[in-house]
Amino acid sequence: QKVNLRELIHQVIDRFEMSKNEKITFEKYIYDKPLPVRVDRDKIIQVLDNIISNALKYSPDGGKVIFTMNKEGNSVHISIKDEGVGIPKQNLTKIFDRFYRVDKARSREIGGTGLGLAIAKEVVNAHNGEIWAESEYGKGTTIHVKLPTHQTREESA
Ligand code: ATP
Ligand code: MG
Repeated sequence: QKVNLRELIHQVIDRFEMSKNEKITFEKYIYDKPLPVRVDRDKIIQVLDNIISNALKYSPDGGKVIFTMNKEGNSVHISIKDEGVGIPKQNLTKIFDRFYRVDKARSREIGGTGLGLAIAKEVVNAHNGEIWAESEYGKGTTIHVKLPTHQTREESA
């Protein structure tokens, strides 16, 4: 089904906006035209939910979470940036592995299973997209998701 990604990201962000700790602020820079893309709506919601709940989980009071969504050629590029604890460089690709959690002691306190990003990666790959992380330890993390807006001829055949 075709899903308007611009509408969808606003809905997801608004839902978090209502329930989040008021000491964390959101900023949005979202592409301002409809963006119909053939994706599995529920699965993309699950991906965004996980990335945003991680951003909130690892953000300190007073932190800002910045959402961007832009069209880049035949892709949509979504990024979710936080000012949280960050992830050491050597762990940046491992966070997408099943059950991997950076700091075991801290993660146990915070809660979760370590599956969120592994699932997100599966879903994004199934859409022929890409997901990656950028981070500065102690300063914050940005998770990027890129989804194609058009099927290539081979895939749609
Ligand atoms: P679950 O999502 O299953 O509840 P989780 O959040 O621990 O558990 P993932 O979402 O897969 O698991 O994330 C894996 C690990 O990557 C986390 O445990 C955390 O160590 C690290 N991580 C993910 N996002 C962030 C972030 N925004 N800031 C800092 N660390 C992060
Ligand atoms: Mg998670």
